[in-house]
Amino acid sequence: MKRSALLAPMLVLLTLATPTESLYAQYERPVDVAPTEEDIGSGYVTPAVQRPLPRSTLLNITDIVLLLGAMGISAWLGLVRRSRTGIVVLAIACAVYFGFYRKGCVCPIGAIQNVAVALTDPSYAVSYVVIAFFFAPLVLALLFGRVFCGGACPFGAIQELVVLRPVQVPRRLDKALGLLKYVYLALAIWFAVLPAVERDFIICRFDPFVGFFRRTGPAYMLIIGGAFLVLGMFVGRPYCRYLCPYGGLLAQLARFSWKGVTITPDKELDCGLCAESCPYGAIEKMRAVRTSCLSCARCYTACPRERAPARGDASVESHEATG
Ligand code: SF4
Ligand code: SF4
Repeated sequence: MKRSALLAPMLVLLTLATPTESLYAQYERPVDVAPTEEDIGSGYVTPAVQRPLPRSTLLNITDIVLLLGAMGISAWLGLVRRSRTGIVVLAIACAVYFGFYRKGCVCPIGAIQNVAVALTDPSYAVSYVVIAFFFAPLVLALLFGRVFCGGACPFGAIQELVVLRPVQVPRRLDKALGLLKYVYLALAIWFAVLPAVERDFIICRFDPFVGFFRRTGPAYMLIIGGAFLVLGMFVGRPYCRYLCPYGGLLAQLARFSWKGVTITPDKELDCGLCAESCPYGAIEKMRAVRTSCLSCARCYTACPRERAPARGDASVESHEATG
């Protein structure tokens, strides 16, 4: 895991060091001054507005299938196979596809705003892709907990990969900071449902990581994103735990999930090794708390029962007796 923790910052530096063409564009005339006839010639005809072609139905459906597949695999790896390595590989693959290739869009986090507008403004249309991306992880959360956060979310993945030396945030502080994401959720909905002329999608405007995926963006957002990643080396997934508004929705649904992470494969040991291994403060009283468990599978690797060659292993039994 330490190797992957080093890979991620290198990836970020690489993306920052290779800016896109647009960053090199130089204009002789200030862009805030209207062009004169001398600039553009008297015979100039204003071209028709160019709009990007909509993404094809096949590609849209491919995105939905890949999202569903990624969440299904995340659930299987996290709850059945109990494979930390598998979760890490899946997270990297999803960061590459949904993050770098699809440039972080469409994503369920930003879709909160589209859905909020669609529910309040009859003139606003929202595509079936956005609807699928918004609801599918919520349904999976009801079934298997936060498996979207575990292996499918590219924003979670780049934070997961930089966790280096996580400290345990004091429980009360952790819970207090965790309320911020609900405040942010309320603000995001508030700004989204304003009348069209005042409407603002603040989740997208202040997304700290999308600039890395697109290799462009306002300098201040890249700096904030970089700060989150540096902080994330020592405080596990700070954006996920304290600010992600979609994480707030997932947490509340995961509370009622049908299945969830069980730290030991069979009998609980209560030795406490798992609690120390969880960088997200998601283990209380030796059990994974479904609202805050990000289904990352780290705790499995710390469990002596997971490593025991046979269920009746003598050292495990003695550990259990004193645990
Ligand atoms: S909490 Fe938000 S950013 Fe983090 S993994 Fe979940 S959906 Fe993605
Ligand atoms: S309890 Fe912690 S370490 Fe275990 S899967 Fe959940 S978030 Fe990961």
